[in-house]
Amino acid sequence: MYLFSLKAKLALIILSLFISFDVDCKWISHSFEVMGTQSTIEFEVPSEKIAPKTLQLVIDEMHRIDALMSPFKPTSELSKINRLASTTPIHISKELYDLLVKSADFSKLTEGAFDISFSSVGYLYDYRNSVKPTQKQIENLKKNINYRSIRLNKKNQTVKFLQPLVKIDLGGIAKGYAVDQCIQILKDNGVVNAYVSAGGDSRIIGKKDNRLWYIGIKHPRDKKRLLVNLPLEEVSISTSGDYERFFEKDGVRYHHIIDPKTGDSARGLQSVTILAPSSTTADALSTSVFVLGLNKGLKLVNGLADTSAILVDSQGRLHYSDDIARLE
Ligand code: AMP
Ligand code: MG
Repeated sequence: MYLFSLKAKLALIILSLFISFDVDCKWISHSFEVMGTQSTIEFEVPSEKIAPKTLQLVIDEMHRIDALMSPFKPTSELSKINRLASTTPIHISKELYDLLVKSADFSKLTEGAFDISFSSVGYLYDYRNSVKPTQKQIENLKKNINYRSIRLNKKNQTVKFLQPLVKIDLGGIAKGYAVDQCIQILKDNGVVNAYVSAGGDSRIIGKKDNRLWYIGIKHPRDKKRLLVNLPLEEVSISTSGDYERFFEKDGVRYHHIIDPKTGDSARGLQSVTILAPSSTTADALSTSVFVLGLNKGLKLVNGLADTSAILVDSQGRLHYSDDIARLE
């Protein structure tokens, strides 16, 4: 059995005064709130000396990305863009610039299904308080949803909106990006076996006690049930569902994934799970395929290398990308 040195044990005790986590032999597991959701980090300790430090680095990274990209924090760089980029080009950090470029790439790949300017209308929804924009507000603001209106200048590292009322939100890609960043930190610190999740976005490296990891996909209409429990290795998995943030009014479900064409919730599917090599990609694609719907969504995934999908349609029926269907 793996034994902690006294010094490392003391460090763990001191750290646990501030954060709570379980030390189960050689594994560390910690869950906490960040980016408006629950995050879990689990990894096999490569060296007892660095375990607490490594955990803290990963927690700090999640909070750093939240502080940079949250649309709800007025001090975030993203909020600054939303306040000023309609009037003048805004110089931004390389990190945020690169994620805006990546978002634009996904917009092109998905013919606009993924569009961070969905927020030009999307910000008027308040799912907790069952608030939605009026049809008139949607009609007035819809023209601001267009990824082509987000002008990126590589040389100056600036962003400028070409329409006056554009708002952007990275909620469809930032959690996946954060998970990738955290996995990189773990790897850089010698971790080989790990699981990191933020809401519906997870990534695993290595094994769990020499076995494959099991990752459950939530049932979209029954919180107590799992849809499937998948044995996996070296992969990212992202689920987008209409049950995560929603309210119902007059028998219609309003949820947080917006069809950029309508400014209304996308309603063809109940949930989309994407398996891909990186979490950033899996996250952006799960949101995109949810908007694209069954046929266009599966066509997109079937055309991409190393990418698989599990879809639940509006009737609760399961559909798979070709590579998974062939396994059945
Ligand atoms: P996810 O749970 O990963 O599907 O992300 C849902 C989040 O993505 C929402 O809460 C929004 O912040 C954002 N979002 C909603 N609709 C879109 C869209 N059409 N394109 C890009 N991001 C979106
Ligand atoms: Mg997503």
